[in-house]
Amino acid sequence: MAVQPPPADRRTVIENAAIATVDAHGTEYARGHVVVLGNRIEAVGDGPAPTRPDGAARRIDAEGHLLTPGLVNTHHHFYQWITRGLAQDDVLFDWLVALYPSWARIDDRLVHTAALGSAAALLRSGCTTAADHHYVFPRGGGDLLGAEIEAVRELGLRFTASRGSMDRGRSDGGLPPDHAVEEPDAILAASEEAVDRHHDPSPGSMLRIALAPCSPFSVSTRLMRESAELARRKGVRLHTHGSETAEEAAYCRKQFGMGPTDYFESVGWLGEDVWMAHCVHLDDSDIAKFAATGTGVAHCPSSNARLAAGTARVPDMLAAGVPVGLGVDGTASNESGELGTELRNALLVNRLHGGPKALTTRQALRLGTMGGARVLGRQDEIGSIEAGKLADLALWKVDGLMHSSVADPVAALVLGALPPLAALLVNGNTVVEDGRLTTADEERIARSCALAAKELADRAG
Ligand SMILES: [Zn+2]
Repeated sequence: MAVQPPPADRRTVIENAAIATVDAHGTEYARGHVVVLGNRIEAVGDGPAPTRPDGAARRIDAEGHLLTPGLVNTHHHFYQWITRGLAQDDVLFDWLVALYPSWARIDDRLVHTAALGSAAALLRSGCTTAADHHYVFPRGGGDLLGAEIEAVRELGLRFTASRGSMDRGRSDGGLPPDHAVEEPDAILAASEEAVDRHHDPSPGSMLRIALAPCSPFSVSTRLMRESAELARRKGVRLHTHGSETAEEAAYCRKQFGMGPTDYFESVGWLGEDVWMAHCVHLDDSDIAKFAATGTGVAHCPSSNARLAAGTARVPDMLAAGVPVGLGVDGTASNESGELGTELRNALLVNRLHGGPKALTTRQALRLGTMGGARVLGRQDEIGSIEAGKLADLALWKVDGLMHSSVADPVAALVLGALPPLAALLVNGNTVVEDGRLTTADEERIARSCALAAKELADRAG
């Protein structure tokens, strides 16, 4: 059952919290308040909340807690929750070749179960809005996009579902096996249908659709071009993988006679309505193109490390004005599935690459909140704690054993262990309380995910 919007007159008051608003000025309060009315933030400020005659508000005493905007995930593959822990020591292309046979056997029931696992892990780690990239549609597998959307609705996560695709199989010079790809005409028809059926462009939307051909090495040039045309005709965003590995760059040079960014430009894939996962191998001229066109980047530090892809030049991108958010990536290349820990991982990998000032704790928090909101085109609605924005909030407990002696609550969140999540509000609803989902039975999800993983492994032989 879908989580319903809260009553418009329901008020929740959070007081005595340290607050990092992540607004344009980086305003923080050592001890402040936030008032939520219905599904929006009514007020935020220093000190206690103004008293109101209406005593019916729910009050949360957040002494010892840090309140941040809910985190925004900009890249994922929810179905991979049931193919974790495989191909542990491979680079991207070998890892993909090892996993395609399993992925080619998924169906709507398995995808629903896997999406429950992925969405639950995101919520439990502070994520309130997620984009997912689903690009495997085996013949006869049923309504896979509908299945993941249904799972996300049950748990109450704000969502951008990407209708992904692959049409360049091995016999066409691509990487995936031929039986894992679809025909381009069928893909375009299904993409248009997904937008017509699911996309809600209204303010406060809980569900948007994006179109997302998978990567240059699994998608034809025609499909890249026509997907962009379709997305622009329908008014939805575009997403893909770009410049993830050195092998991909070499593939593009051989196949198209140019590097990945020039290729994307040639097929109409740079622009404010486009965001790409990884972008590890960008040179100065590529970064300038991303900045000039407003093309967004989903930085996925754990996945890039797990697959030894390299380190994206996030500080250079930020300095140039490129929109950058954080992504978990699929959990076959980042088994943790947590977004909260990516704040820390982003800071650490960028410092290894660029020195101690490469990324501050505040910049890491901004990547995971406002940065992601901008990448998904929702910077006016989510990503910061400001009056009028949607009530997507994460309340972290930082007075326990692991954090009470850390001098700064934001450092406790970004540099320390991921703090317990006292509460997570999505659209004004409390969907996590004391670290547990309020919308579903976690043990039941765990059991069904274990069975689904085994079932898929058996199917793949
Ligand atoms: Zn990915």
